[in-house]
Amino acid sequence: MIPKSEIDEILSKYDKNNITIATICAHSAAQIFQGARKEGLKTIGLCTPDQKIIYDSFPLATPDEYIMVKEWTDVLSKENQRRLVEKSAIVIPHGSFVAYLDNENLQNNYRVPMLGNRQSLEWEGDRKKQREWLEKAGLKLPKEYKTQAEAGEKVFVKFPHAKGGSNYFTAESDKEIEDGLAELVRAGKISQEDADNRTLQQFVEGDRFYPHYFYSLTEDDRQVDYGLKEGRVELMGMDIRIEPIDESYRGLPNVSRKFFDYTVTGNEERIVREKLLADIFRMGISTVNKSKELFPPGMTGPFCIETVYHPETGFVAFEVSARIVAGTNLSTRGTPYEALTFEERTSSGRRISMEIKNAIEQNKLEKIAY
Ligand code: AMP
Repeated sequence: MIPKSEIDEILSKYDKNNITIATICAHSAAQIFQGARKEGLKTIGLCTPDQKIIYDSFPLATPDEYIMVKEWTDVLSKENQRRLVEKSAIVIPHGSFVAYLDNENLQNNYRVPMLGNRQSLEWEGDRKKQREWLEKAGLKLPKEYKTQAEAGEKVFVKFPHAKGGSNYFTAESDKEIEDGLAELVRAGKISQEDADNRTLQQFVEGDRFYPHYFYSLTEDDRQVDYGLKEGRVELMGMDIRIEPIDESYRGLPNVSRKFFDYTVTGNEERIVREKLLADIFRMGISTVNKSKELFPPGMTGPFCIETVYHPETGFVAFEVSARIVAGTNLSTRGTPYEALTFEERTSSGRRISMEIKNAIEQNKLEKIAY
């Protein structure tokens, strides 16, 4: 793993008056560019030819400069890394960034400073580590089983590297699981290795809420009264994902199998009853605190905890995303929660650039980038 001292050394040579925000043109890049522009920071988009139309079509979300690549993995080339460092760039990791470039590369071969702590991407990407993190943080998690018989109820079948929920399915018997896996392998949708390493989770019943947080190290420490070690855990907004399964009722009475698809296709905004926000803040604070123990100096910047809430069981967390999530793309027009923290409309994308600017002012850039 690239030691933090090496990235700190690169950061120390950066021109602090000309920091550039860079990311790959996918996922939440439009919002990241628009937010940086609002904060007066320059932007670089690493882009493939087929995606450029998106960023050229939104005048306020067009990066100041493109670095064009044929394949996403070209982002990793020494030349492209050099160009970014030369521009004093801080890279913003997002879901597609992690999926396309692969964690192994980001930990060992990518020497451009990234917002947050790159170790948190490793802890999020490994299901076992992620579970350990959330469990130790005291969150309630879905039970996990070896077989459906052991569960005695409907189970959710998941695969190692989360790809937006694609190919996940539910099953009510072990035969259904084995048949389902064999079919996915036969169709070339998952590998045999994925099938062998599936996870069987309790199917959690209730309403989904995916709170978007921002953990700031440049704001006041008022939440120390509630156990937070330093800084401020902000609630930026909340969404649920739109997935074909949500519309399965439209196929009634003969619901076709295509509706049983959990692949994320979009997002919708949500709010929760106000009293439930106490639990949402507590979950955020304990997840941040535990990250400081497990992978110092811990997670910073945007993150999301995917939860299901039921009045009888409370919040059950089935995933943490230790970077900006695509659900925050709702936030460019402002969310009900960020309006309670910021006077001006502040998307998660803009919040990122605000944090970077504040960190420069407070001489803390090394604390929020690795
Ligand atoms: P994920 O990729 O883990 O975010 O999961 C994709 C989708 O599957 C989620 O948005 C939920 O709709 C659903 N899901 C994941 N895990 C569970 C679970 N344990 N119980 C019920 N639904 C789940």
